[in-house]
This record gives sequence, structure tokens and C-alpha cells, in this order.
Amino acid sequence: MNPSNRRRVGVLFTMSAIAGSSANAQTTSSASPSDSTSAPIRDVRYDVTFTKAHAQARLVEVSMTFSTTSSSPVVLSLPAWTPGAYEITNYARWVTAFNATADGRPVSWDKLDYDTWRIRPAGAKSVKVSFRYAADSLDNAIAWAKPDFLLLNGTNVFLFPEGQPAEYAATVEIHTDGDWRIATGMSSAGQPRTFSASTYHDLVDMPFFIGKFDVDSARVSEKWIRYATYPAGSVSSSVRQSAWDQLKKVIPPEVAVFGEVPWDSYTVMQIVDSSYMGASGLEHQNSHVDILGPQYVGSEFQPSLYAHEIFHSWNVKRLRPADMWPYRYSRPQPTPWLWVSEGITDYYADLAEVRGGVVDAKGFLALTAEKINEVTAAAPVALQDASLNTWVHPIDGTEYLYYPKGSLAGLLLDIMIRDASDNKKSLDDVMRGLYQSAYKRGKGFTAMDWWTAVSSAANGKSFAAFDAAYIDGREPFPWETVLPLAGLRIHQERVPRLGVTTQQDAAGIVVRDIAPGSSAARAGVRPGDYLVSIGDIAVDDQQFGARIRAKYGASMEGAPLAIKIRRGAETLMLQGELQFAPGEIMVEPDPTAGPKAVMIREGILKGTVAR
Ligand SMILES: [Zn+2]
Repeated sequence: MNPSNRRRVGVLFTMSAIAGSSANAQTTSSASPSDSTSAPIRDVRYDVTFTKAHAQARLVEVSMTFSTTSSSPVVLSLPAWTPGAYEITNYARWVTAFNATADGRPVSWDKLDYDTWRIRPAGAKSVKVSFRYAADSLDNAIAWAKPDFLLLNGTNVFLFPEGQPAEYAATVEIHTDGDWRIATGMSSAGQPRTFSASTYHDLVDMPFFIGKFDVDSARVSEKWIRYATYPAGSVSSSVRQSAWDQLKKVIPPEVAVFGEVPWDSYTVMQIVDSSYMGASGLEHQNSHVDILGPQYVGSEFQPSLYAHEIFHSWNVKRLRPADMWPYRYSRPQPTPWLWVSEGITDYYADLAEVRGGVVDAKGFLALTAEKINEVTAAAPVALQDASLNTWVHPIDGTEYLYYPKGSLAGLLLDIMIRDASDNKKSLDDVMRGLYQSAYKRGKGFTAMDWWTAVSSAANGKSFAAFDAAYIDGREPFPWETVLPLAGLRIHQERVPRLGVTTQQDAAGIVVRDIAPGSSAARAGVRPGDYLVSIGDIAVDDQQFGARIRAKYGASMEGAPLAIKIRRGAETLMLQGELQFAPGEIMVEPDPTAGPKAVMIREGILKGTVAR
């Protein structure tokens, strides 16, 4: 994910603030194992009905039919969360009118926990359970209906048998009006509007758009990409052309990292809605769902969001930490590795943008500097801890810090690997190697797998101290020593600082608070004073900040500073002294860099290594 607020999106990271974003307690059953293990079931089929009448009521009708030969109870659960959205949501809370029949007759059922139903077929062979599902939550992990549209996630509505293997095939038939469309990553089952999945994991990883929306397709990296956007007309003409241009630029550099396209086709599913604050994406194996506030359509953030979510189809949907292999849907599944799954995904989103030509080298360095500033301003937190903590939405500002900080850890590792290998290897080798050695062998990666791959790419260099200080530890990142290895350096200007917080009112700019010991405090500025000018520059000058920096940027700390204020009816000229504070951190090419460092810098920007 990605939030813009950063969220799944890894990027952006925002979460929706709508009904249903909840951080409830976990959901484990109190029932004994024998009670909570379902009888085996087979011939599983789901039916989803969403017509114009359902749209008006903002609900979906769902049924599940299966056969069973056991006389034991069938125990069915709904997931408590959706992979990629690392929080407990308990989708069962939107279920109403639950009903169960067997061989056409009502059968008894009860609840074992808030996500789990126990059905007693009593020897009957063919069982059907059905319910209605309220679709009123604008969130890329939940269900959301409008009069002409539905977003539906499989985790919301597809029940699974508790304690039984997830590797069962299932069919889904969508019943909707004849003039409405369906978009999903699921494969056609041959019949119209009927789809199939070979495992429950696939089934719930392929959300649906149903209704009226725009969709078009293009070949990118020799596979079909579909672009489905709701509402119809929300992304049209030049804006749509530009979105396609971005997709065609960011996908090939990502394919180059892994050496293969992992999907037969990929669907970008995008909703634009004015009630949504920020922008957010949620990744799946061959699709992703974006929700954007209108101001994000065509913004600089848009290609970053696409690049982030699509990179996830390799990193996390396929290559993922062993802690999340396989996914478990009934309870939280924390891992200390989200800094790789999300943060390094975000590093590759930046790389895809620069390698694909969406941004230039300067733009890439600006994206990097933005992350350094964000991490510098936040509370110190270890990447492993931030990764684990996200499930409980900590309030100290570190909830999504594994995105920018993990991305920066990716840059550090990339530089150190390239330096140690004379630019013959890179972080790309680590990602591609683990994709082959873990994912392709049907398992997740462990800490040993990760650090062995990093060390091996870096010519045997040990990363134990790096891990202890910067991944498991909270030390500030070593920019001063690592950036020069890639011909880069930090540049931080001093900016003159008065030390006041102000507010604009009808009479001008009024001082609210004064920092003790600041330039303003020492000059005698008081709360309630109106600022008129500082160093002869009027505070209402549109270019005030730039003019102050131009006039005083090269001055000495303590140089005289005239502060003109209004206090009541008086205008006073106070004599202050210049103080400086550190400004924004920038990352820039180092003009003194040697040939090896320049080669490493170019290698990162272009995705190349020495041969
Ligand atoms: Zn993400």
C-alpha cells in the first residue's frame, strides 16, 4: 500500500477516514480446536448479486454453496484483514441477514466468534449459506457502492472453511445488469460473468469493479495492462493519455529488476472521489486498487503511486517475508520486514520513475531528500519496530515511517553493495536472487536469507553492524559517509529564524508564541505584537522568505537585525540579533566525486552495473 498520505500504498499513504477503518482487537476464537475445525467441503461456488436495485440500497447479496460428506459441523469464517492493509478490520461487521440451508431446508447455525459461523448440515449433502453485505465504506480494502458502481474485495465476502487447506478451487459468478461491466484479475471460467481461482489465496486477492466505469487496454512489456477508472469520465483525454504514458514508463524498469513479468495481464483499478482525503493504493498479484482525491489525478504523486503498487506484484505479493507465508486471515500477522516489503518497494518506485524517464536525476534526488527530511523530523524508531507496530496505529508519528525510512535503507544498501562490488552488483541482484530462491521455491524469505543475499552481492561484506545500528537500531543514517560513495552529498542551508509563531488576522500578522532565547525573545517581541518588517523587508511581501535568505543567508550569527512591530497604537523598532536554524536537507551531486562514485551514481539512476 501506499499512503499521501501514505498507506498501503505504500505510498501514499493515507488512509481513508471513512466508516470501517478500525483497529479492533484481534479475533482469535475462544473455541477449542476441535470445535473450530470445519468438516471438509468441496465443489465450492460463490454467487455475488449486484444490480441497479442493490446499488440504490448500497448492498450486495452473496451466497456460498458446497457439498460435504461429513456429519460434523462446517465452520466458516470471513477474514479479519486484507493482506497489504495491515490492520484488523473484521469484515463480518457488515454482514446482515445470514441464512443457511441444506438440501433446500433450513439448518441450524450459530457463531463461534465474531468472524465465524458454525453450520450443522445434519447429514445433508448440499449446503448453501447466504447473506447481505453493506457496501458503504470508501476504502481500498472494503466494499463501496454508488448508484452505478461497486468496489468489492474477496476478503469482505468469501467465507472459508476453518482449519482446512486454503488450496481449494472455487468458482465465482457475478449477477448484474446486462449493461454493466465487470473488471477483476480473476480468470474467466468459460461461462459469461463466471470466474475461477485455484486457491483461496488467489480468490481473495482479486477485487472486483462492477457497474459503469471506463476501461481501456495497452500492451506494456509484452503483456496486457488494463486501466479501469470510476466514475466514467473521471480520467479522460490528456489526463488519461498522461496516465498511460506514466504506466508505460514505470513498468519496464521494474520488469528489468526481476527479469520477468509475473502476470498474464494486470488491471489498474482507480476510483476518484471528492470525499477522499489524500490518495492510497492497495496491491494485489495482478491488479491494484487506487483511491484518489480529485487533486491527485494527474499530480506528481500519481506515477509514484502506480510504480509503487505495481512493484508490489513482485515484492510482497510474491517475494515476501516468511512471517507472512502463507497469509493467515483470522488474526494479525505482524512482521519486522515491512521496511523491505513497503520501504524498498517505495525506493524502487523512485527508481522506476527516474529509470523510465518520468522524472530526471534532479527529481529523483528531490524525492530522496523529501524522505530524509520526513525521517529527520520524526521520532527515532527502528525499522523493525516501525514494521511491527503498524498494526496498532501508534500515535507518535511513526505509524508509516517504514515507508520513507525503509526506502532510504534501500538506497544505503544499494550504494554499499555497488561500492563493495565495484558496481558489478546492486540491490537489484538481491531482489532478483531472493525472488528466485524464496518465492520460486514456494516459501518466504528469512532474516538469514535477506542478509546472506545482501552480503553475497556486496562481495562478502558483513552487514551485521549495519543491521544492529540502522535496521534493528535507531541510529541516524550515515549519510555523510555513504552518499559520497555514490557521488552524492547532503546540502543543508542555514535559514534565518526569528523564533515566533504567528497568525494572520484582519489587522496583519500577529505574534502568538515566542521561543525562549530566540532572536525575537531577546529583542523584546511580545505575544500580541504585529510584525511589520524584519530587516527592512515587509512581512507581507510575497517573496519575504526568499528576500530574507538573500539578504542574510551569508551573514554572521549575531549580526544586528531590526524588527519593526506595532504594539497597540505604537510602532516600535526593536533591535535584535540574527539567529540561524538548519533548513531543508537537499541531496545533490558531489562535484568532487571520483570516477568510481560517478559510475555508481549513474548505475543507480540508469539501472546498470559494470560488466
Ligand atoms: Zn505498498
